[in-house]
Amino acid sequence: MTETQDPKMLWFSFLKAFTRALTQINLYKPDHPQVRQALDEGQALLAQIAGSLAGADFSVTLDNDKLLINGTPLLAADKLPNSLRNLFTKFRIQTITFKPGVTGDDLLALCQVQSHKGEAKDYLKERGIDRVKIDEAIYTKVGSQTSPGLAGPGLGAGAGGGPGKGAGQGAGDGTAQAAPAAETPAEEKISEKIIDLGLESALAAIVARVTPDPAEQRRLMELLTSKFKQEMETTVNKALEGLRGEKKKVENDMVRTQSVMTSMADGVVVVDKDGNILMMNPQAEAISGKPLAALSGKKIVDLSQIEDQVVSLAKEITSDTKTDVSQEIGKTGSSDLAETVKKATAIIQNEDGKIVGTVSIPTDAAKLKQAEQLQQDFIANMTHELRSPLTSIKAALEMLKLDTDASASGKSVLNTAIRNTERLNSIITDILDFSKLQSGKLVFHQDEESPEDIAKEAVDAMRAWATSKGLALEAKTEPGLPRVYADRRRTVQVLINLISNAIKFTPQGGAIEVSADAGKDAMSGSVFFSVKDNGSGIKKEDQAKIFEKFVQAVSGEKVGGTGLGLAITKAMVVLQGGKLLLDSEPGRGSTFRVGMPVYTGQVDQPVFEKPPQTAVEEKSWWKKLLGM
Ligand code: ADP
Repeated sequence: MTETQDPKMLWFSFLKAFTRALTQINLYKPDHPQVRQALDEGQALLAQIAGSLAGADFSVTLDNDKLLINGTPLLAADKLPNSLRNLFTKFRIQTITFKPGVTGDDLLALCQVQSHKGEAKDYLKERGIDRVKIDEAIYTKVGSQTSPGLAGPGLGAGAGGGPGKGAGQGAGDGTAQAAPAAETPAEEKISEKIIDLGLESALAAIVARVTPDPAEQRRLMELLTSKFKQEMETTVNKALEGLRGEKKKVENDMVRTQSVMTSMADGVVVVDKDGNILMMNPQAEAISGKPLAALSGKKIVDLSQIEDQVVSLAKEITSDTKTDVSQEIGKTGSSDLAETVKKATAIIQNEDGKIVGTVSIPTDAAKLKQAEQLQQDFIANMTHELRSPLTSIKAALEMLKLDTDASASGKSVLNTAIRNTERLNSIITDILDFSKLQSGKLVFHQDEESPEDIAKEAVDAMRAWATSKGLALEAKTEPGLPRVYADRRRTVQVLINLISNAIKFTPQGGAIEVSADAGKDAMSGSVFFSVKDNGSGIKKEDQAKIFEKFVQAVSGEKVGGTGLGLAITKAMVVLQGGKLLLDSEPGRGSTFRVGMPVYTGQVDQPVFEKPPQTAVEEKSWWKKLLGM
């Protein structure tokens, strides 16, 4: 920059440096090198400008839509950087006047005005800055843009600013002069006058104060309203931009959620905290057999009316209103539905952690049944296939045993082999029976039977094994017992199962007694078979568990087994209308009692796996037991 430089270039350079300082003071501390550099540059340029003006003041004015330097239009207001324009508009500054000798600190104070809450002028005054002057009330009328040196006189009173404190323009620069501000009373009057007016009328009143010329008034009004409109539009658009973005995001989220829901192989149902259906995917519609439109807003329990369809819902859902949706299902829905309640439900909570709804996956009961059926068929076929060769092996072994030429040790090996085939056979029988019970294919034919005969048959079948283990096994029956209503073969099997357990869990030298009695209460309507041993006994905590499938309690002796025996035994007893009781003391032995109904002329109706069930009845223990 040289002395001969174009003054306009100097002005521009100063404005640039000043704008940089304005921006950087917002980012850095005042003593930051970046800030300092911009301020020093600004100050140096001001010094040059002052030199070029021969010591006259240098003024920067924002008037309507132009920036004027010493009254000379330099550029359009909308070309100004925001920070500079904001400084003027935020504090309603009309003109900033720089007197010769402005320091970098003076400029810094001017920059810091930006973040000041009160009046800009007061800020400078408080800091003793008198080489920079801020004027809010100078209205400069530019006579002609082509002859900047000949600007017309300043306008009269400004509506928004305080009284002008004199013009900052140098006498020799030929720029606009500041007109004295309007009288204070008049100004008060105008503010009072517009207080109740609408925006347009208020503007018109102010404009009328600015100029008496109707044409100029019209122009001013047009200018002001178009500016206002423009700014409003920009602000509204900015606000809308954010909203549009949010809307798009929500829409995208919805589309994503919907496409995930739609493409899920499982049916999905979303319910609110009261169990009302909000959303369903096509798979859920297919399962329920009804479209969402037909079910929307209805309680999820309504799905229960559709036979063979089940709805999963977490049992432990308790909302803030303490409404347990699954309990409601229990009350209103079928017991089957209540029982198929699964933990396949996601709970939806709001920010406060309150439950507002759930997402459930309804299980396609038909598909589940199909899978179960396949499994059961496989087990039935497999056990059947295993049994045929086993029978042949056992027959062959028995034939070999008859061979008198065999040595004593050879015979003992054969005996072990035969015992093992028998064990294998009993395991296969257990699995087969269990699978039949599960699929409801185990049929019972009950008839009038003698309890003595049943007990004797079971004991006879097991005697050889008991003897081989050094155990005493005997049958004791009360004379004159009533006949029982039982499936003979299955009831004998029940006793055989219990006796075989007694044999397994009683050490050598022990005794097993199988008896039949009418029970303590002769009117009980049952005859009780008892299998009593003096073996290991069963701990209290295990006594209920051992009737569950696959459960084996730990006893002293490690014996083989599937853990299905007692589950099958109990199911067989209960399906015949009987009951199975246990009395056992660890170390002293166990007594299993089988109560069978007394025959009173009942007519045989083959009993499958379905005992009567009422809607609210809890699923029977044996179904639970067998996982049905
Ligand atoms: P497993 O086929 O394995 O014997 P069960 O269902 O018949 O299965 O029996 C389950 C468990 O109950 C056994 O593993 C055993 O711990 C216990 N148990 C059954 N009967 C007796 C008994 N008479 N004495 C002691 N424990 C018994």
